[in-house]
Amino acid sequence: MLQSWLIDVAEVRPAGAKGRGVFTTQALAQSTVVSGFGGHVLGRREFSKLPIDQQVHSLQIAEDLFMVCLPTSEPADFFNHSCEPNLGVEGNILLVATRDIAAGEELTFDYAMCDSDAYDEFECECQTPSCRTKVTGNDWMIPELQQRYRGNFSSYLERKIIDLNRSVPNSSGMLNG
Ligand SMILES: [Zn+2]
Repeated sequence: MLQSWLIDVAEVRPAGAKGRGVFTTQALAQSTVVSGFGGHVLGRREFSKLPIDQQVHSLQIAEDLFMVCLPTSEPADFFNHSCEPNLGVEGNILLVATRDIAAGEELTFDYAMCDSDAYDEFECECQTPSCRTKVTGNDWMIPELQQRYRGNFSSYLERKIIDLNRSVPNSSGMLNG
């Protein structure tokens, strides 16, 4: 039995320079739940002992907590990042379609929606017009992204965004307007 759930019309396929990715074989309506992540919940100390290729297939769910499928990765671990994604995070473990998606499209989310840690930083090659070239663990702090992804951040990042904007009263953050 798998630890994470992936909608049955999705499959893992080669995705060019990105290695593998998750694609839908059928059209999906906006708001469709596409994946539910499960696995082992590890604290930072244990997590940091994992091999890098397992770390990058994990999901950060709190400041110091990471969910990861062990001992091996599963199909749901192969969602790629995009700076113009078609999925968002709901709660801490669900991926949901943020628009109607056509058959054959790759399913992606923006790692800024759930990462606040440097464990998975990389040069982005998503090649979308909005590409920010480098993806870092601090991207959730970018006001423009806070606005664009409002409601699509994981629960723990929504809370961090509220705290951040409260501590910087004159910022252009999403909650001060
Ligand atoms: Zn990009």
